[in-house]
Amino acid sequence: MNEQWDNFANEIKGLYKKDFVPLHEPTFNELEIDYVTDCVKSGWVSSVGKYVDRFEQELAEFTGVKRAVAVVNGTAALQVALKVAGVQAGDEVFMPSLTFIATANAASYLQAIPHFVDVGEETLGLDPIKLEEHIQQIGEIRNGKLVNKETGRIISAVVPMHTFGHPVDLDPLVELCERYNLTLVEDAAESLGSYYKGKHTGSFGLVSALSFNGNKIMTTGGGGAILTNDDNLADYAKHITTTAKVPHKWAYKHDEIGYNYRMPNLNAALGCAQLEKMPLFIEQKRRLTKIYEALVNNVDGVSLFKEPVHTKGNYWLQTLVLEEQHHRDTVLDFLNNHGVMSRPIWTPLHKLASYKTMPKGNLDYMTSLENRIINIPSTPLKAK
Ligand SMILES: *Cc1c(COP(=O)(O)O)cnc(C)c1O
Repeated sequence: MNEQWDNFANEIKGLYKKDFVPLHEPTFNELEIDYVTDCVKSGWVSSVGKYVDRFEQELAEFTGVKRAVAVVNGTAALQVALKVAGVQAGDEVFMPSLTFIATANAASYLQAIPHFVDVGEETLGLDPIKLEEHIQQIGEIRNGKLVNKETGRIISAVVPMHTFGHPVDLDPLVELCERYNLTLVEDAAESLGSYYKGKHTGSFGLVSALSFNGNKIMTTGGGGAILTNDDNLADYAKHITTTAKVPHKWAYKHDEIGYNYRMPNLNAALGCAQLEKMPLFIEQKRRLTKIYEALVNNVDGVSLFKEPVHTKGNYWLQTLVLEEQHHRDTVLDFLNNHGVMSRPIWTPLHKLASYKTMPKGNLDYMTSLENRIINIPSTPLKAK
């Protein structure tokens, strides 16, 4: 490794004033302490309480959807989103191979089958053109439903994931879903605070999922939410994430096999405080991007991934794209050994033992990307 990388690592440590810079840390102050303390003092720390209602309402306002349902984590949110969107056992569901394993697991929990498709260069997310080419090869409309000719199974939904907070090209994807009778369910776990043509990600799908895990742009400790503009689907999501209990003064009556997926009030209290700071987090993240842009300019053969046209991203994780002269693992070794925590992208899902026999399209771009991408420290940078 050369002097350019040395300087790059030193600049990052200088920026954060640390000898070891983590990839992403949550940031808290008095506001979180106040809300969480208030919650504890109230005694309502568990499954009911005012913070859950307030968090759901404020989340819906922030994302511009009609309803939000808070749950225990993003994976559960995605599972329930797919379920209320009508995905059935035995259906195939299109999704990128470049995503966190939760996207595929959520479908698997419903006995649905992940069907992997390639991502695009501009967005690092599902590419509507490649998806359509693939559908034309393997798909056929039977009785108004898209069927995979090779497996005979119905393909019922598409789950785009907004990689590192960068929105996929949603307009053509929405249009494609209409043409092929596919339900759009967005995995917006990484894209709270990201917009496509001025509209918040997660407001395009029939139902969408968010995550508030500790490493996301904002956190509730652990948590997630289901977003939708459909009141009936929101009510149903709330019902089945709260054990499908029929409201009654004292009787325990449950009208189906529901889940205990509700978000505890304590977590929602943390979430209310964090959500108030989202505009600040986004501003800080975008400022960091500007700084990294200048730093990356001083290293040959590397670029910083920038938001696609028509989008305003939250820049959740900052992303380096390496040219061929750089060996990914050598760069990872160097940065991690020099106090700058860096990570490769996820192992493509179609290469994992649990998912390698699943149906898939051509994944050439995904495969070429795998060894060229690195995430670098992305904690919101405080103003000087
Ligand atoms: C974080 C994340 C999830 C959900 O994660 P949880 O840890 O269950 O909250 C789902 N999909 C993607 C792409 C994610 O990054």
